[in-house]
Amino acid sequence: MKREKKKSISEIFGSRVFNDAAMKEHLPKETYKAIRKVIDKGDSLTPEQANIVATAMKEWAISHGATHFTHWFQPMTGFTAEKHEAFLWPAENGKALMTFSGKELIKGEPDASSFPSGGLRATFEARGYTAWDISSPAFLKEDEGGLTLCIPTAFCSYTGEALDKKTPLLLSMDALSKQAVRVLRLLGNRKVQKVVATLGAEQEYFLIDRRYYEQRPDLIYTGRTLYGAKPAKGQEMEDHYFGSIKERISAFMSEIDEELWKLGVSARTRHNEVAPAQHELAPVFATANIASDHNQIMMEVMKKVAIRHGLVCLLHEKPFAGVNGSGKHNNWSMQTDDGQNLLDPGNTPHDNAQFLLMLAAVIKAVDEYADLLRVSAANPGNDHRLGANEAPPAIISVYLGDQLTDILEQIEAGESRGSRTGGFIDVGTSVLPPLPRDASDRNRTSPFAFTGNKFEFRMVPSSSSVSAPVFTLNTIVAESLSQIADRLEKATNVQEEVKAIIKDIIHQHKRIVFNGNGYAADWIEEAARRGLPNLANTVDAAKAIVAEKNKKLYEKHKVFKAGELEARYEITLETYIKTIRIEAGAMIEMAERMIIPSVITYTKMLADSINAVAATGTGADTSIAQDRLKQVSSLLKDFGSGIAALRAAFDEAENAHHGDTYAVASLWRDRVFTAMGTARQSADLLEGLVDQDFWPMPTYQDLLFKV
Ligand code: ADP
Ligand code: MG
Repeated sequence: MKREKKKSISEIFGSRVFNDAAMKEHLPKETYKAIRKVIDKGDSLTPEQANIVATAMKEWAISHGATHFTHWFQPMTGFTAEKHEAFLWPAENGKALMTFSGKELIKGEPDASSFPSGGLRATFEARGYTAWDISSPAFLKEDEGGLTLCIPTAFCSYTGEALDKKTPLLLSMDALSKQAVRVLRLLGNRKVQKVVATLGAEQEYFLIDRRYYEQRPDLIYTGRTLYGAKPAKGQEMEDHYFGSIKERISAFMSEIDEELWKLGVSARTRHNEVAPAQHELAPVFATANIASDHNQIMMEVMKKVAIRHGLVCLLHEKPFAGVNGSGKHNNWSMQTDDGQNLLDPGNTPHDNAQFLLMLAAVIKAVDEYADLLRVSAANPGNDHRLGANEAPPAIISVYLGDQLTDILEQIEAGESRGSRTGGFIDVGTSVLPPLPRDASDRNRTSPFAFTGNKFEFRMVPSSSSVSAPVFTLNTIVAESLSQIADRLEKATNVQEEVKAIIKDIIHQHKRIVFNGNGYAADWIEEAARRGLPNLANTVDAAKAIVAEKNKKLYEKHKVFKAGELEARYEITLETYIKTIRIEAGAMIEMAERMIIPSVITYTKMLADSINAVAATGTGADTSIAQDRLKQVSSLLKDFGSGIAALRAAFDEAENAHHGDTYAVASLWRDRVFTAMGTARQSADLLEGLVDQDFWPMPTYQDLLFKV
């Protein structure tokens, strides 16, 4: 395909966003100032101001060709939802007026009944409200149906409970800001007004050919292959050899970049990943709620653009057994309103003290709330990944690197010994040596790694919203900072108290620091000795959501009310149950309608061949065919039994008493999920023996290498 000469990035970037520049251009000065104040300081708009903004936004959108607007929100399904409405309003003269009011901009009322609420919304009260997140700019989304103005919103119930992924994220950012500002003020920074969480979410994904995808009910229903023998070639080699493949992928990537740039998403790095057909896209980091919106947009655009290229983009955490799955790497830090990164060690002793205090706050938070961090990254897809020697284990630990660990150890010991970093570190008087930014392949085995001036949370599932990992981190660090601020407030000598706090935290929480190989089996034992939780799957991890200490935490920082946490716990378990139910159902369906019939046809072919050869009376040898027939028939029998057992387990779980969601989810995990694994084994062996012309679906070879 020949392309016209491309526009430059600066022409494209943000052209479909009602961003700061657009607001400045299209709003009266006073209104622009007012809205800036809302964004920077958290005031609210008056109805008159909202009307002015709505009108300007509408005119801007219409001038680009938009016909509809929608409140764009993120219900607890983890996807985005929208309800489009035309700007149109019939006028008396039979013509149409293009209307959009401040009220429509600020608040929407979608029917909430089709979104999960975990029991928060009584069925008679189906109403839900969406409210504009003014700090995240509106944008124009393009699809076959034209351009739609999307207004990023939070979504809550009639009685004010959060029904979405965005509300807790925004609240957690407030909590973090409040506590971080407290600490900074106590350290003598009088200017700071606000601290924001920053996020750069690297996104991994697979691209496969759409024709093959469409022949795999498992991919269509569940996003992952429920059957599939490992091909001769896995991920031992890189897949750069296939020149023609790369061209198709790179055409996809270029289009993705362009689409994202229009939407103001700063897609920056794109490359192939470890597994064949796997790739990664990384944006430049941004304020966490915007980065979170951008990640949702990214996932949506990737799926859409893939289709245009005859491809399908798989975001599932583990689409293929035997090769690496996909995750997101959430790079996270805190930044003051004057642009200072609080996890940057800086160049002066004063910066170091502040840096070490912030670092200690994170270490303490991660140790005290490892269970919450773990569940924030839990979904059924990720259960296949964590601890499978390709992604960090299910155990949360913090990687600091040798140098930083050494510095902390010195501080804890309070002793002046020589070290590789050159002598004794006295918080507040000496300058830290420059800390290396680790090459990511060196510490890839850590779930939570310090990388020079930020932390990288590597457990995050590829298909989910980044909201939970981020609101969890924000809230637990807010709690550490709040305890630190309490101590500093009482201190007579702040400098000395800072040292004492850092020392205490290292002493109490050093068990969470682990710089070794997280994939190694002995780490699991070592972690158990240290008393670190190892929550191997979503069902086990879910309990953390409703643990008393965690409810207290979220209530204290006004991120969740206890009832909202109960609801999220229910939804986590219900989603688990639904996922396994669909997967098991798809496995049975594919067995009965595709695999078993095809294998029977193949055995008939073998039998016919044996008979036909014998009938020639030549005495020709048929032993190979006979052996094959016996082997295949025997495996087919195993497979049939496996599927019968799976069906029995399915019925048992389906008919289980539904009062206790945890017990039901455990049943789906222990009986159904286990039976799925057993059944799959014989099918994958069969795949290796059955003539490929008889095998009823594209194989891993097709899916992974013929892109
Ligand atoms: P690389 O891995 O290529 O060296 P980086 O480590 O700089 O790149 O960045 C990886 C991701 O981390 C990018 O998305 C980047 O924007 C993000 N990032 C960098 N600094 C920060 C920060 N202070 N806060 C949050 N994310 C950040
Ligand atoms: Mg990285």
